[in-house]
Amino acid sequence: MKPNEFIEELKKINIYLSKSQQDQLAIYAKYLLEYNKKVNLTAIKTPEEVYLKHFFDSLTIFQIENIKTGSLLDVGTGAGFPGMVLAVVFPTLKVTLLDANNKKINFLKELNTKLNLKNIAIINQRAEEYTKIHREQFDYVVSRAVADLRILLELNIPALKIHGKFIAMKGNITEELKNAIATLNVLHSQIVIQKEIDLPKNGGHRTLIVVEKQAKTNLIYPRNYAKIKKQSLKEKNIC
Ligand code: SAH
Repeated sequence: MKPNEFIEELKKINIYLSKSQQDQLAIYAKYLLEYNKKVNLTAIKTPEEVYLKHFFDSLTIFQIENIKTGSLLDVGTGAGFPGMVLAVVFPTLKVTLLDANNKKINFLKELNTKLNLKNIAIINQRAEEYTKIHREQFDYVVSRAVADLRILLELNIPALKIHGKFIAMKGNITEELKNAIATLNVLHSQIVIQKEIDLPKNGGHRTLIVVEKQAKTNLIYPRNYAKIKKQSLKEKNIC
């Protein structure tokens, strides 16, 4: 997808980019591919693919949630997807980018010396440590391609305000959904939207899941990562 096609496709989902936002994304694409030659950030190798599979894909969230304002935490942001793209496109959204990988966080910090975005914080920490402390703080938490849904729920739901929303960006999800039902109940949350999306230009199929938090999360969650991975939550854990 060429930059001008990207701009046209975005208009179809009611996103209109200013010239300076277009320039910022062009800098992002160029720097990502340049940096990727020395540090492995993405499997994607061409600007056209960056525009389709990273930039456009990151913005598909806007088709289901009007995330223009409020606070958003991107858990496992990697090279900034979707959080950095959302921060460029929605300057009134307060974005926190979180990743355990120091190399990716360094890339994002260096990128932001070029973009100079005022609405982002960039943090190098494991999700389970961060959300254990930053509880009930965010309007939105998002994760694209980070972990199994039931794991993401335990990592991310504690950071949400009550009635805040966690948005999972996934490929195929049927099996994961079945395995996440008990975790949803234990964490007092429920799926409110499930939307299937085909990217333009046969760019691939995506499933977006929106989970709303209904009540405060018990302080024992998230557990440590080894426990989260090994032991699924059961209905008897509800408290
Ligand atoms: N969201 C990005 C990156 C996906 S790769 C994208 O879609 O392109 C998954 C990322 O999640 C990696 O960068 C990895 O370091 C991070 N990650 C996985 N588990 C994590 C955890 N528990 N805490 C913080 N980051 C984590």
